[in-house]
Amino acid sequence: MTPSAQDIVTPVPEGQGATSLLPNGAPQPDIPLAVKLFAELEQRTGVGRPGHGINRTSYGLGEQIAHEIVLREAGRMGMVCEVDAACNLYMTMKGRENGPAVMVGSHLDSVPAGGNFDGAAGVLAGLAVASGFFKAGRRPARDLTLMAIRAEESTWFGASYVGSRAAFGKLTSDELDHVLRAGDGIPLGKAIDAAGGDAEKLRAGTAHLDPSRIAAFLEPHIEQGPVLVGEERPIGLVTGIRGSFRHRHAWCEGSYAHSGATPRAYRRDAALATARLVVAMDDAWKRLTAAGRDLAVTFGQVATGRDAAFSKIAGRTDFSLDVRSEDLEVLDFMRGELAEAVAAIEAECNVRFHLGAETGSQPARMDSDLLAHLGRIVQAQSIDARKMPCGAGHDSAVFAKMGVPTAMIFIRNRNGSHNPQEAMEIDDFAEAARVLSGFCEEGPQERR
Ligand SMILES: [Zn+2]
Repeated sequence: MTPSAQDIVTPVPEGQGATSLLPNGAPQPDIPLAVKLFAELEQRTGVGRPGHGINRTSYGLGEQIAHEIVLREAGRMGMVCEVDAACNLYMTMKGRENGPAVMVGSHLDSVPAGGNFDGAAGVLAGLAVASGFFKAGRRPARDLTLMAIRAEESTWFGASYVGSRAAFGKLTSDELDHVLRAGDGIPLGKAIDAAGGDAEKLRAGTAHLDPSRIAAFLEPHIEQGPVLVGEERPIGLVTGIRGSFRHRHAWCEGSYAHSGATPRAYRRDAALATARLVVAMDDAWKRLTAAGRDLAVTFGQVATGRDAAFSKIAGRTDFSLDVRSEDLEVLDFMRGELAEAVAAIEAECNVRFHLGAETGSQPARMDSDLLAHLGRIVQAQSIDARKMPCGAGHDSAVFAKMGVPTAMIFIRNRNGSHNPQEAMEIDDFAEAARVLSGFCEEGPQERR
């Protein structure tokens, strides 16, 4: 293959770039590289029509392409690249000192017809920082390991944080065999093997990562809510990640009957019963919010069954329920509220609720020392950042749960996420990358 202009690497003399250092002496991140790679990702993993989003299916083609792009760039910088049994990719730049590494990472998969920045922004921010050090002919304080994480989006396998859990040897045989990919029904283990991984190793609980060898895990990520846009701030420092419990395939069993001929007392109206459940859960949410507790309750899908008709009482509804909080106690309380509401409505409406399996994740606290350190860097760089909770699930939750000091940097983003209209400004991305570069220059500080 003849190298294209893009493939030619121009060696940069030692010390070049020293003219544009950050306040603590860190090199400027390579933002032009990130711009180029965002464009390539959009072009090569797009659904085919510009503006209609990108498809990076977990363990599918789009995700694979994204991993290859990132691997190619890391190779150009001479980073040491490794792939684990779950096909997570690790790219390491040697540090000036020995000791546990600083890890920076996020996921490269997306929801169907998703946005180009969700996940990818974190990986490209890490690459931009590494490239900044490389072009300046310098090294970060500690080994800097970028991680491109597989299969974060639970829309594909219905399981949370597949790649990051696998990296710590925490995927179960049951999941590998029985969790199926939406769309094609391929079991997780087979999908991992097909992507070049080794499900057998994962089955044995083999871990690639050792928490004691990781000084810090930092995940830059677009904010998927409206807070930073509303407050006109470029970045945020995350204090904690909400956990959840979910019922993805719940349904309510009533009876179909003639809408005119069936008196109230004889009805088993699944639509009415489901509406009451929605209101009961919303009432609980209001009470907890008034008490200052963190919570979000969503019935994302509600539909009457196949046999529904305009002049029939609904004999069936199908619905999903998603309950999230930073606080484990609140999640437990809401489980109790759900059980009580179900029992009361079943008795009142003469229906049966079938909630099905519960899935979910534990809330995760971010590391306070790490947050304070990032806060000092933000201040030194005169960036207007705010501390904020994180409402969506992220791989950072897994690292935090494994005892790794973990932090997330949110990047302002318009129009929400998981849709083609996601809009992150590159200037905001650059602010996050500068904070990251500043951190990599200083390295993790002594822990109290
Ligand atoms: Zn994401």
